[in-house]
Amino acid sequence: MIEKESLGLKGKGINEVFLSENRDEFDSTVNGYYRLIGGENGNYNKETSRRLRSFGEELFKKRSYEKFTAFKADHDDMIIGNHLRLFSFCEHHLLPFFGEVAIGYIPNNKIFGLSKFQRLVDKVSSRPQLQERLTYQILEEIKNRLEPKGVGVVIKAIHTCVFARGTQSSSAEFTTSAVDGIFKENNNTKQEFFSIINSDGRLRL
Ligand SMILES: [Zn+2]
Repeated sequence: MIEKESLGLKGKGINEVFLSENRDEFDSTVNGYYRLIGGENGNYNKETSRRLRSFGEELFKKRSYEKFTAFKADHDDMIIGNHLRLFSFCEHHLLPFFGEVAIGYIPNNKIFGLSKFQRLVDKVSSRPQLQERLTYQILEEIKNRLEPKGVGVVIKAIHTCVFARGTQSSSAEFTTSAVDGIFKENNNTKQEFFSIINSDGRLRL
């Protein structure tokens, strides 16, 4: 919500804010990009621009989410959210990167509802990003909101800018990690976290 408030546009989404004045420019930019990547002018459909606007609205809602209510709990064992879905855009090429996130923390009398793991990932990833920065931002969000005894974040992602550009296309997977508190100080805790997220115990429902 910070962005909306700082612009004095409380209660409005990206379509109303950005596109009320720039809509024609936006439509012609989308058409220009369509032609840049080889689209033939006669085939361009204005619906494409509308779909992109509506995708922008969806991203705006995800990054504006703020209902991170915490609960009191006497729980002091590790809580892990694994295989959380990640979708973002590399800020250098504006091409998607996507993959999975694992978040673990040891609470200090406060916990999140389980659905908030995914909400948190969506909140920080729904904009142009760097995978390295994103990893630290997730860690900081958990630290600031829950003040846990320790926290760890691991992201594995495929970058379509690496995959698609140049002549050496690659399906390389990039891994970033960040730890803090007990996860940093106690090697056993850190190992426990990494062994749980790396064990192939994925539920297939
Ligand atoms: Zn890139």
